Amino acid sequence: MLWINDDGSIARVLQPFDPDYRAEDAVYLPGWIVPGFVNAHCHLELSHLKGKIEERTGLNGFVSALMQVRNNFNDDRQIAIEEADREMYHSGIVAVADICNGNSTFNQKKNSSVYYHSLIERFGFNGQMAQTIANDGQALMADLDDEAGNMCLHAPYSASIELQKLVKEHLDNIPNGFYSIHHAESEAEVELFKTGQGSMADRMRNIGLIEREFPFTGIRPIDYLIDFFPESKNILLVHNTFITAADLEKLKPYRDRLFLCLCPNANLYIENALPDIEQLRETGFLITVGTDSLASNHQLDMLSEIKVIHQHFPSISLEELFRWSSYNGAKLLGIEKEKGHFSQGSKPGIVHIQAVDNTQKKLTFESYSRLI
Ligand SMILES: [Zn+2]
Repeated sequence: MLWINDDGSIARVLQPFDPDYRAEDAVYLPGWIVPGFVNAHCHLELSHLKGKIEERTGLNGFVSALMQVRNNFNDDRQIAIEEADREMYHSGIVAVADICNGNSTFNQKKNSSVYYHSLIERFGFNGQMAQTIANDGQALMADLDDEAGNMCLHAPYSASIELQKLVKEHLDNIPNGFYSIHHAESEAEVELFKTGQGSMADRMRNIGLIEREFPFTGIRPIDYLIDFFPESKNILLVHNTFITAADLEKLKPYRDRLFLCLCPNANLYIENALPDIEQLRETGFLITVGTDSLASNHQLDMLSEIKVIHQHFPSISLEELFRWSSYNGAKLLGIEKEKGHFSQGSKPGIVHIQAVDNTQKKLTFESYSRLI
């Protein structure tokens, strides 16, 4: 039983044997309650693209379609951002790590009930442009005012060595923040670093990012990144659909501050594939859950992500999935004192999950979550 203060903070967590435990004074909620969700990967700025990009075209198809439609917007864009923010909040999301390429979401974030950590996404494969790209990122950072945020990289195939160095320098010199990058999202990305060939190499050639050969081959995407991890900040690798046991072995020295983010609905939307979540779990890495964007998902709803994992990997307990989607996300963002758990003095937000199968401790197709 939770005893809640008027400001939403937890006054007491009472067990049935506690002398102050009086069931008759409590409000009984059918279903389950869990701490507010932390969405570890989102692109709020793409909310106007809901339903605009075809499903299951692979990452290359997705990126090409995204480039064509991402700037097709008018006033609807702000409305879509506002609606998506509200949708997240009502479904139980209390904090978000949100990717930004511009400042379109900043106003909404200032007025939102959700806590945002904005990740200013930088990309560019031309090393000569790296300093300009980083400077533009710094200018965007200034627009954030006192909201939480830092610069991050987009993906291994879109970051020059020079840009990686600059982002590392940035992270090593700011007081708070964390490294974030999309990683091993597609087979094409793995193929690019393995052989320098394949659809991603073709695309890079077509748009002039490389002249002929891709210069970094015979390696895994992670080999290209690992030397530029920050010295002490948390590290978030997003997607990991095609990560291998050997990759995870290389990441072991970072295990206490490295987070693997799962975005199962987006993986199914884009690649129609899921990472081997059971294998990731067995390695003991910290796992978080994200919704990705409305360009690659039908909703920004953490319970919907949990349902997909629950359905495909039934051996993983729901308790564990809720830890990934609440506490681990809070730890990534450095807000774990307040969020992610029910304990005296914390203010995690309370999520009520209804339409659950209580006898088998399972979520059902109809299960839904609401912040109370
Ligand atoms: Zn993403």
